[in-house]
Amino acid sequence: MPVLHQPRDLDEACTLLAELDDPMVYGGGTAIQILLKQGLLFAENLVDLSFVPGLTAIEATATGIRVGAMTPLRRMETDAQVAGVVPLAAATYGHVANPRVRNTASVGGNIAHGDYRLDPPTALLALDAQVELRSAHGQRRVPVRDFFVDFQLTAVEHGELITAIEIPAQPAGSASSYVKLSSLGENDWPSASAAALLVTEAGRRTLRLGIGALAPIPQFVSVDVSGHDLETTVEAAKAAADPLIDPIPDVRGSVTYKRRLGLVAVEDAVRRAWKDQDDD
Ligand SMILES: Cc1cc2nc3c(=O)[nH]c(=O)nc-3n(C[C@H](O)[C@H](O)[C@H](O)COP(=O)(O)OP(=O)(O)OC[C@H]3O[C@@H](n4cnc5c(N)ncnc54)[C@H](O)[C@@H]3O)c2cc1C
Repeated sequence: MPVLHQPRDLDEACTLLAELDDPMVYGGGTAIQILLKQGLLFAENLVDLSFVPGLTAIEATATGIRVGAMTPLRRMETDAQVAGVVPLAAATYGHVANPRVRNTASVGGNIAHGDYRLDPPTALLALDAQVELRSAHGQRRVPVRDFFVDFQLTAVEHGELITAIEIPAQPAGSASSYVKLSSLGENDWPSASAAALLVTEAGRRTLRLGIGALAPIPQFVSVDVSGHDLETTVEAAKAAADPLIDPIPDVRGSVTYKRRLGLVAVEDAVRRAWKDQDDD
């Protein structure tokens, strides 16, 4: 069994990550506990962030909000500030698993987990969020659009931990929606998912699409839909998404099934975002 360390501040956490053999950050533990039970966790030391102050704050910034890495997913779903500033994020976090997982899992642990099927990255990609990282050598920021590197591989380097995610506010007049399609049950991982954000700025209309569970890493594409009506926007979205879809077959669907379902998720997300805009 790995040894559990419980640092009392960020400097101590970073020192432990730099000096211990085979260390692993312990966030909410929902993914780590499963790996432990399956005998698949090979870390010698777990660095638990539960007692590090300041990691559960949700703060307003000049451009949006900054969410501490240990913030439970459930708070992203229920917090009024999150719902007001980034409604797409609030809607997407509310689709992760079930309330029990969402109460325990953390925002930092969620993206660090790096699973290609995760719900939240789709919204974070569309919203152009940034990940704040810290190590004994200092701090850096990585755009979420560069964060997912390869299958189960993220930009988090050895000795680093995520301290926060910064999410720019949804532009005024924007409209959004998140669609998750699961073949094994409502609370299960998605077989396909899509987050759509329609933004009108400086006379141009852009559709930003985050796509999940359909390739080894979450995908992002931005489409200029200026002057388009709903039907041409849907067609443009599907045409842009199609080349990004490279499904991994599993118990939740074959390549053919997921490819077709992926385009259904994209179409549904665009139609719902369009309706969201009409309703405002
Ligand atoms: C039953 C079940 C169903 C699920 N269904 C879904 C689903 O439908 N959609 C979905 O999106 N997800 C789903 N998940 C995955 C869930 O979202 C993740 O398990 C969870 O978000 C991980 O967060 P955590 O804080 O518990 O991470 P942990 O289990 O603590 O850690 C996960 C990974 O992240 C690393 N890590 C943790 N915190 C940090 C940090 N601050 N900095 C750097 N690295 C860190 C750990 O070292 C580890 O590698 C499901 C999980 C379960 C158990």
